Amino acid sequence: MSKKPPVIMWFRQDLRITDNPALTEAIETGSPLLPIYILDDENAGDYSPGAASRWWLHNSLQSLNASLDGNLQCFRGKADEVLPALVQRTGSTNIYWNRCYEPWRIERDLQIKADLRNSGHHVSSFNGSLLFEPHDVAKADGTPYKVFTPFYRKGCLGNAPPPRLPLAPPDIRSYEKSSPGSSIDDLELMPAITWYDDIAATWAPGEDGAQERLDTFLETGIRNYIDGRNRPDLESVSRLSPHLHFGEISPQQVWHVASAACNIAALESQLDHFLSELGWREFSHHLLFHWPDLPKKNLQSKFDRFPWRDDEDALHRWKHGMTGFPIVDAGMRELWETGYMHNRVRMIVGSFLVKNLMLHWHHGERWFWDTLVDADLANNSASWQWIAGCGADAAPYFRIFNPVTQGNKFDPDGVYVRRFVPELAALPNRYLHSPWDAPDDICESTGFVPGQTYPNPVVDLKASRERALDAFRSLKGLAMT
Ligand SMILES: Cc1cc2nc3c(=O)[nH]c(=O)nc-3n(C[C@H](O)[C@H](O)[C@H](O)COP(=O)(O)OP(=O)(O)OC[C@H]3O[C@@H](n4cnc5c(N)ncnc54)[C@H](O)[C@@H]3O)c2cc1C
Repeated sequence: MSKKPPVIMWFRQDLRITDNPALTEAIETGSPLLPIYILDDENAGDYSPGAASRWWLHNSLQSLNASLDGNLQCFRGKADEVLPALVQRTGSTNIYWNRCYEPWRIERDLQIKADLRNSGHHVSSFNGSLLFEPHDVAKADGTPYKVFTPFYRKGCLGNAPPPRLPLAPPDIRSYEKSSPGSSIDDLELMPAITWYDDIAATWAPGEDGAQERLDTFLETGIRNYIDGRNRPDLESVSRLSPHLHFGEISPQQVWHVASAACNIAALESQLDHFLSELGWREFSHHLLFHWPDLPKKNLQSKFDRFPWRDDEDALHRWKHGMTGFPIVDAGMRELWETGYMHNRVRMIVGSFLVKNLMLHWHHGERWFWDTLVDADLANNSASWQWIAGCGADAAPYFRIFNPVTQGNKFDPDGVYVRRFVPELAALPNRYLHSPWDAPDDICESTGFVPGQTYPNPVVDLKASRERALDAFRSLKGLAMT
């Protein structure tokens, strides 16, 4: 009996077994499975995974490999060279993957698909990471949406096919027995210096970790999601973003499991709000798909004339949580220590960078790319453009977050700031978000020495706000409405 050539399952941002459409189809061919992962830094260029993402990826691949009984084969190099060579070497005629939507991947994958099909191979790709395909959602005139609410309520919920039900984990009967690739360690994703202890203590990458996060959130956080989602001091958000980015859980699983768990009237509005956040994820992908320059180019070209400043010292202080504004510094230190930052605080630190410091949003995008475990080209680019005011449906530029007001409102007891900026922990709540206001006797009794135990503010809030507004006004044609 002749040996069947393997079916190749190319894992990408779908590092899971359950609800994996490409994997399920690949197994149904009945051929032995050859599961592969290709680290393609060359084609990714500026968007090869940053340091925190590489840590996550290494651990997520370990988890996937365990689910595949140790059969995952890893490769490094350009996928458009690695994959055809592998197909030739193994004699495989069937290749399966789930689609990714970053512009560089779309271009590369279309070419790979065309080349393989031209040489007589069967290639199938599936939607494994979005609820709604970007090309399925369009306005009545066929153009893409630029405003979130009509995109989500009308384009997605109103007109597109509803999110499909998740697939059960497939029964993998046989694997290709040769080992054409190398091990996960050979990808050298882990840094030589172990700076990631706190990140490792915070997260459990992999499919099981993702399920646990979802379960925990549905037992606790979702009950107070609408208000709680703005509070970095509470555990009210799901923290599913890195799991969703790496595809350890699909948005369909999250959508349907959350909907079933919250199927009571009392939770209806909480659920609706949570699902709409998945909608924002869809919107970012929709924008990136239709505006592939989103990571580099202002969506509103008027902003190309914005007089950004250069200030290496201020940028350094922002990155390292030493701006002298406690909520900003807590956020930047949370990011550094855990690879994550709460959404409310992402907005505060983002506004502070582009408005109070008047530094280009590209600096923020790059820093987040390197330090976030959930760094995602669509979400990161769209969110930075949104915060800078130059994106689709963006926050108006003149709405400038005041970090003191934001801190008092969303971290009222100072729990978040005290955790990440411990040198301020002894200050009474009243001064925690504006330590420069602390009178001498409080400084003395708490050991707080302005400018020594904690930095003085890097800018004057009022003056920097006026400076940003003047710069904004200098852009002719931008109405302040
Ligand atoms: C400047 C800036 C940069 C950002 N960069 C990223 C990034 O690189 N990767 C990333 O996943 N998110 C990014 N976000 C969006 C958002 O902050 C995170 O998705 C969210 O904080 C993740 O936490 P969570 O999983 O607990 O969210 P939850 O509140 O539990 O929401 C559930 C899921 O919905 C999606 N989601 C929630 N909020 C948003 C949003 N505003 N935009 C798009 N999707 C959303 C995420 O996939 C999230 O996991 C950024 C936001 C800002 C302001």
